Amino acid sequence: MLKGRELSTFRKQLLGWFRQFKRDLPWRRTKDPYRVWVSEIMLQQTRVAAAIPYYERFLQRFPDVHSLAGAPEDEVLRLWSGLGYYSRARNLQKAAQQIVAKHKGQFPKHLDDVLELPGIGNYTAAAILSIAYDEKQAVLDGNVARVLARLSAIRGDLRESQRWQKLQKTADSLLEPKSPGDWNQAMMELGATLCAPKSPQCLLCPVAQFCEGRRQGIAESLPEKRKKRATVQVALAAAVFADRKGQTLLFPPPKSTKENASADHVPTLVSKMWHFPTVSLAGDPGMDLITFLRKELPEERNRDWELVPAGKVRHAVTYRAITLLPFLIEVKNLPRVAGAKQVPLADISSLPVSNLTRKVARAALAAATLARAKQ
Ligand code: SF4
Repeated sequence: MLKGRELSTFRKQLLGWFRQFKRDLPWRRTKDPYRVWVSEIMLQQTRVAAAIPYYERFLQRFPDVHSLAGAPEDEVLRLWSGLGYYSRARNLQKAAQQIVAKHKGQFPKHLDDVLELPGIGNYTAAAILSIAYDEKQAVLDGNVARVLARLSAIRGDLRESQRWQKLQKTADSLLEPKSPGDWNQAMMELGATLCAPKSPQCLLCPVAQFCEGRRQGIAESLPEKRKKRATVQVALAAAVFADRKGQTLLFPPPKSTKENASADHVPTLVSKMWHFPTVSLAGDPGMDLITFLRKELPEERNRDWELVPAGKVRHAVTYRAITLLPFLIEVKNLPRVAGAKQVPLADISSLPVSNLTRKVARAALAAATLARAKQ
């Protein structure tokens, strides 16, 4: 761990570099905790360039914590649609409601209060408090951990509990107390730009002289790889009804919001959003889907559906590799199902839907176009 003069040189060089070369990002133009918070949540599992348009649209519609707290959940999810990991959006809104109810609409300043908000863990709390309120909280996420592991040549799985705690202590000791917000952003910026996972650009690095990983020639191989959870294959089939006007039928977001441990839990796979009638496959895809439709649409159980295979959709959700077989079912009138909605197949995004559902819609549209061309 750096101390004394070395530590102050390290801080000065990294902060100087950040202030000169930092990327101009929309959330860096504000200290408003609400905006900083929205950006931090969006940036979890989403790249900066991809997050920017979503951030701008989201804030245009929900400019403050009150507008987000009072909005219909469907609308929040629709504006999130495409970013994935929808529990982030749901938690964001729940936390906004909590801030309105318990903190008079002011984002809390105390760490314990912040950590009580849904969807906010240690990293996000430290980022918001330091950037918005200049609180002395050092951030530690995967990016910062990588930088620290390289600086100190730390081997092994960084997420292992004791090692992670040690990294947090190192991050705390490096934190520049006079500018904690800029400091945290400087560490993140270094990890996101020069000290990227592949090919760190050590020649341009403002703190290269302090880097033990570089000195030992092992920087690029750090952090060492974690053991990955084995991929599980999941097979699904979905019914894409289409009437003569090009309308289709979507089922509502599943009611249960509980996480289910099984890999083929359909509500989890459709991100608990509007979705095509979908079944997990155990046997013949067409037969399984028909059995499922007869159960879900009891009034239509005597209908003979004609299922037209509409290709194959592949999608990944965390450790699951999904293969979904969409079947196009052309009908005169769409079946009536309580809670379901009719939307144009060519534009299902008037409702919040997951990326998997979008892919299914595209495959079904292509199949419908092909079928029409053959007639
Ligand atoms: S010298 Fe290289 S490995 Fe070390 S912190 Fe800088 S960019 Fe990362």
